[in-house]
Amino acid sequence: MPIKIRQPFVPITEVEHAAFCKTEDQLPAKSLAEELAVNVRWQEIPAEYLHYTPEELDQRIHQARRKLGKSVTVLGHHYQREEVIKYADFQGDSFLLSQEAASRPDASYIVFCGVHFMAETACILCAPHQKVILPNLTAGCSMADMAPIEDVEDGWTDLQEALGGHGGIIPITYMNSVASIKALCGRNGGAVCTSSNAGKVVEWGFQQGERVLFLPDQHLGRNTALKLGIPLEQMVVWNPFRRLGGNTPEQLRQAKMVLWQGHCAVHTRFTVKQIETARMRYPDVTVLVHPECTMEAVQAADMNGSTEFIRKTINEAPAGSKWAVGTEISLVNRLSINNPDKTIFCLDPVICPCSTMYRIHPAYLLWVLEGLVAGHVVNEITVPADIKRDALVALERMLALR
Ligand code: SF4
Repeated sequence: MPIKIRQPFVPITEVEHAAFCKTEDQLPAKSLAEELAVNVRWQEIPAEYLHYTPEELDQRIHQARRKLGKSVTVLGHHYQREEVIKYADFQGDSFLLSQEAASRPDASYIVFCGVHFMAETACILCAPHQKVILPNLTAGCSMADMAPIEDVEDGWTDLQEALGGHGGIIPITYMNSVASIKALCGRNGGAVCTSSNAGKVVEWGFQQGERVLFLPDQHLGRNTALKLGIPLEQMVVWNPFRRLGGNTPEQLRQAKMVLWQGHCAVHTRFTVKQIETARMRYPDVTVLVHPECTMEAVQAADMNGSTEFIRKTINEAPAGSKWAVGTEISLVNRLSINNPDKTIFCLDPVICPCSTMYRIHPAYLLWVLEGLVAGHVVNEITVPADIKRDALVALERMLALR
């Protein structure tokens, strides 16, 4: 079996992440030139877009949208900053938005204010005549980047060799992964899952085989498996930088869950200590976190669930209730503004937006919209036909479980 030595790397997003962390309540709107002054490497954009004030951007975006009419649909993920999401025709999580785009064939152009894997998913689900646009091509996802397809293909081969043939292992990938990994799952009897249906999909995986390879978020995988009653002793972590992921063949044979060593830089910031502090401050607070948080944080919280679950639960909660929330700050701030009769705050006192979602500045949105007005499609996201076909198989297996 070949031994590959690779150097771990610190993604640029980790560096950037700190650049936009604040201790104030809100992140103020700025021109793109001011944002770029912290020395981040975002996509280059024509110079005139750098210096528009937030007011000028607002006026020009409305003007472009009026000219484009129904030919364009703007989608906004819940984690987008306020000065971007206000232009969205639809807000939602990644899968909901992709389905929304696919159900609007009138819109020839889908401008996805989110991150790269979301635009790819929209491209897989949309009709061939629809073009999907990502306003800033550097808006990736640090978690998805922790599972490059080359590493996953190598790991998949090594796992099968170690387990003997197929080894009864079913690959399941979280929506937050590149299209080629979704395709690998489709080709190998696996499926895609979201944070809302991970339990159902993993359960299905165990009906198809003896064990599951869960990608790319080890925390969602672990939290989901624990809920299904799989003990920690039957889980191993696959470190792509080590031979056999850092496991012995015997450990792999004993494992029910093989967890790819990826994580979300935003959700792993939430700690048990923060939960204890919130409870000391408000003894009647309910702590609600996302399952991308660590096992320790999820177990210390009162509730956990997907972005849509968090929104629904808090929006429907009685007036006067108090919520300490462990998810992306733009969503927490929006929930707090939209529910003034409740006390809603982020568990982490340092305000850190998802640094890659944050790369969608209104200047980028304006740039792609004005491109369309001028007849140019800027930043189109495409997925090769074979990847699209196999990824769709994995997505359809998930949809069949509803
Ligand atoms: S919040 Fe985490 S998982 Fe979601 S896009 Fe940002 S880095 Fe990726």
